[in-house]
Amino acid sequence: MRKKIVAGNWKMNTTPSQAIDLIEKLKPLVKNDDVEVIFCVPYVSLMLAVDAVKDTKIGIGAQNFYFEESGAYTGEISASMLKDIGVKYVIIGHSERRQYFNETDEIVNKKLLKAFEYEITPIVCCGETLEQREAGVTIDHITTQIKNAFRNVSDDLAKKAIIAYEPIWAIGTGVVATSDQAEEVCASIRACISEIYDKETAEIISILYGGSVSSANVKELFKKHNIDGGLVGGVSLKPEFGDVVNYK
Ligand code: PEP
Repeated sequence: MRKKIVAGNWKMNTTPSQAIDLIEKLKPLVKNDDVEVIFCVPYVSLMLAVDAVKDTKIGIGAQNFYFEESGAYTGEISASMLKDIGVKYVIIGHSERRQYFNETDEIVNKKLLKAFEYEITPIVCCGETLEQREAGVTIDHITTQIKNAFRNVSDDLAKKAIIAYEPIWAIGTGVVATSDQAEEVCASIRACISEIYDKETAEIISILYGGSVSSANVKELFKKHNIDGGLVGGVSLKPEFGDVVNYK
C-alpha cells in the first residue's frame, strides 16, 4: 500500500517570522501518522522551517532550485545548498514556473536528475491547460511531460519520485477536477511509468493530485486508487490544511 502524502505549496507567501508562526500553528493540527506531511516554504524560511519541525515527522521542501552544480548564476540556489540545510523535498516544474519563468520539459529533466544526485525527493508537476482539456489532448500532453521529465532516470530512482498531477485550470481557481477526472489522469500517469519502466515501478511511485484541494473535496479525491495524496496551495496556509491531512 502506498502511503498518502500531503504537501503544502506555500508559493511566495509568508515572511520568515510569519512562516514560523504558521508552522507552530499547523504542527499540532497535522498529527496523522498515516500521512507524510511536507511544507514547501519560501527559500528564506527553509533553514528556520527545518529547525521548527525537527521534533516532528513533517518534511520540509523547497519550491525550486537551479540544476547547475555551482558558479556564476546570480540569484540561484543549488541542490547542494538545499541538501546542506536539511531540505528533503523539492517541487520541480510547477505550472507557475513553466508559465512565468520559462521552465521547459528539458529543464525539468535536468532538475530531476540533479535532485536525485543529492537525494532530495523531487515532486514533479505536470498538468494541462483548459484549452488542452477541451481539445481532448490531456492524456497525450501529460504523457509527453512525464516521458520528458524522466529521461535518463533509472527505475530505482524513479521509484523514489513523487509526481503531482495539477490541471492548470484547477490551480488557485476554486474549480477542482472531479475525482473521476483526476483519477483518469493519475491512472494514465501510472500506465506511462509502467511503459517507461515496469509495473513494479508504477505501483511504487506516488502520484498526487493538486488543484483547489480543500477539506470539502479531499475525501472524495483521496479514496481513488491512483491518487496517493495532494499538492495543496491556498489551503496549505490555513488551519484547514489540518483537515486535509486528517481527511479520514
Ligand atoms: C498549487 O499551487 O500547487 C495548487 C494546487 O494550488 P491550489 O491548491 O491553491 O489550487
